[in-house]
Amino acid sequence: MPTPTEHALLSASSAYRWLACTAAPRFEAQFPERTSEYAEEGRLAHSVCELYARRKLLLLSDRAFDMRLAELREDPRWSDEMLQTAETYACYLAEKAASYPTTPYVALEIRVDLSDYIPEGFGTCDCAMIGDGALHITDYKHGKGVPVSATGNPQMRLYALGALKAFAPVYGGVISGVSMGICQPRLSEAVEEERMTVEELREWGESIKPVAREAYDGPGRFCPGEHCRFCRGKSQCRARAEQNMALEDFRGVPLSDTEIGELLERGKDLVQWYADLQTYASDTLLAGGEIPGWKLVAGRSNRAFADTDAAYQTLLTAGYDEALLYDRKPKTLSELEKMLGKKKFADLLGKQVVKPQGKPTLVPMSDKREPYSTAASDFANLETMKSQ
Ligand code: SF4
Repeated sequence: MPTPTEHALLSASSAYRWLACTAAPRFEAQFPERTSEYAEEGRLAHSVCELYARRKLLLLSDRAFDMRLAELREDPRWSDEMLQTAETYACYLAEKAASYPTTPYVALEIRVDLSDYIPEGFGTCDCAMIGDGALHITDYKHGKGVPVSATGNPQMRLYALGALKAFAPVYGGVISGVSMGICQPRLSEAVEEERMTVEELREWGESIKPVAREAYDGPGRFCPGEHCRFCRGKSQCRARAEQNMALEDFRGVPLSDTEIGELLERGKDLVQWYADLQTYASDTLLAGGEIPGWKLVAGRSNRAFADTDAAYQTLLTAGYDEALLYDRKPKTLSELEKMLGKKKFADLLGKQVVKPQGKPTLVPMSDKREPYSTAASDFANLETMKSQ
């Protein structure tokens, strides 16, 4: 049996990648796994969430809660914000549980067997609740860089399939509906959910079986795209390089608007790809390796006091007034929201917040946001002219 620290070749969390690029799992396996500060911070935040959920839903005693929380606080990655995000997560689970006609069975951090759909597949689902014909799966995401949608999310669907299997001995045949929610409180307090019937979910599971088999058996097909972002082989992948270098096909003729649209689509990954190459080259050089034609130099640095307190004390002793040495600056809106918590912030200051239209930003047609309104921007310009 795999231990919790082992990783399946085809994991649920990387399903969005191997479903799109079946070559990725075997290709990635050549490169060492690396953890990041963000990943470690996410792991800690997950533990805090689990603790809060245990207290709210599984009646963990105050003493056990306090002891565990004290342990977690010792982690150098600790941030008080984790208390707020964990509270949001636990409240969402409690509301979800209350929406069942009778108290559901709740399992936290449940290990699920996915091998009916992906070879040797398994995973750990943050929360599964079941009862009254319905299964609900929740996943917590601590990141705030990339919003994760629950709609069509293969990780969530695989967890749901795994949970159906885990609960089959007790609930087999009586569950008809499945819902899956992603709680990403640092981006939004609203939890997006996807709903499916068990039949639809199983049909989807059947549809990915051949893809999973191809990805597992290898060599698979390379298919670069947005899913390359977290691939361990992203810097050394020839298919990704070829896709980005293929932009040269367009040289020598004036470009039409249609071609510019096409180039924008094809070049979406170009900047990120170049940044990945830079990171790879820097890491290699730092580790003592060589990248022909490149070297590392010391970047720009700013002067600083070796001991700021001592420097200021020198000025005070020299007779400079404190008011000359310090600026009194208001906290930013985000800092205040972080300090007060989202709810308190909304209660106290919600009515005083304005949100002007952002600068026009070019995105593909598939982007869900409303098109930029030039009328709103013209109106803003008019108001500015009137006030001059
Ligand atoms: S970088 Fe992209 S194309 Fe290359 S293996 Fe990874 S996911 Fe596939």
